[in-house]
Amino acid sequence: MAHVAALTFEQARAEVLERVAARAARPAVETAPLDEACGRVLAETVIADRDYPPEPRSMRDGFALQASSTPGELRVVGEVRAGEPCRFTVGPGEAVEIMTGASVPAGADAVVMFEHVSAAGGRLRVPQPVEPGANISPRGSSLKAGAAAVDAGTRLTPASMALLAAVGAAQASVFARPRVAILPTGDELVGIEEQPAPWQIRNSNSHALAAQVRRAGGIPVVLPPVRDRLDDTVEALEQALKQDLVLVSGGVSAGTYDLVEKALERFGAVFYFDRVLIQPGQPCVFGRAGETFFFGLPGNPASTFVCFEIFARAALDLLAGVAKPPLPFTLAVLAEPFRHKPGLTRFLPARLEDGARLHPIAWGGSGDVCALAGANCFLVAAPDRPNYEAGELIRVLMAV
Ligand code: AMP
Ligand code: MG
Repeated sequence: MAHVAALTFEQARAEVLERVAARAARPAVETAPLDEACGRVLAETVIADRDYPPEPRSMRDGFALQASSTPGELRVVGEVRAGEPCRFTVGPGEAVEIMTGASVPAGADAVVMFEHVSAAGGRLRVPQPVEPGANISPRGSSLKAGAAAVDAGTRLTPASMALLAAVGAAQASVFARPRVAILPTGDELVGIEEQPAPWQIRNSNSHALAAQVRRAGGIPVVLPPVRDRLDDTVEALEQALKQDLVLVSGGVSAGTYDLVEKALERFGAVFYFDRVLIQPGQPCVFGRAGETFFFGLPGNPASTFVCFEIFARAALDLLAGVAKPPLPFTLAVLAEPFRHKPGLTRFLPARLEDGARLHPIAWGGSGDVCALAGANCFLVAAPDRPNYEAGELIRVLMAV
């Protein structure tokens, strides 16, 4: 059942971003202690309470002095340590011994490192000229009082923790996490604790998707597998559509028992795409039923995985209040030649080793869970580039 023309990867991604951004309501706001806020999305911009650093600060252990006194012999008039106010003023021909992180004394405009001088008996010999400003972080050079330290809409990282802690944000206002329904479909599915018959498989997608949703900052709501029957699928979707976002696994290909789109039509769904020129994941579906966006992720484990990372994660980010959903692409050097049939953007399991060298992993198609689990990234092959040589740069998606 073709609802719309197949889109390229870029068109499909743009469609997700535009459609969801246009309707996503501002999520509810919660307060979280800073140490529980990593991975959450900041709801209110955090403002710097003072200049950072609040006084000119030494970046090195050494001597504070006037650059114009160098090179030369200087008199050491005192010492300043980190964690104490500085009582000294430095005049021409004078120096104050200073530690990393200490406030630079008035009058001094440079710090020379211990390693570059010789000091004895209160005298300091500076053999080379020192540049004005050397080894000093000027007041407010990192951040000015009143400026934004971390913007609303930022997903907080361990590095954000450093900055928020530095500016004294003991509590953070963060957006509520979106609740994401995960609905697996397929007559062949059994639970992971069960022993499948030879014609059955364990439902691995629910577990991978739940982990992906959690990693992306959502709350997975995993529903029981639904059989490939229209009425059952409709009934299960009714539950799923109560959540903020719906991820259906399987049932979106062209087979007689791929009934997900048909079932979604019962809810008056609009379909923004149901085929994308990618592999794995070509039959990927994206649409909206009422106010709830849904994805129909093709059931092969690599298809489900990749379609979540390149499409559904962006929707989840927007529903979570992220201002600009990222897609972690980078470039790597191919360790060996790579060929593929043109026409589709391919996201293939690969390993990025030390030195940014990329090794494609042999894979047996979209159902190859071993290749998926053995990868640490995906090689991204362009649809108009059938041949890549060893040593060439190629795009990589950093998501496994
Ligand atoms: P479908 O997209 O429903 O046509 O399924 C495509 C392939 O993915 C079939 O080989 C299914 O057995 C497999 N598959 C579907 N759902 C799951 C699941 N939840 N876990 C693991 N494999 C699945
Ligand atoms: Mg199926």
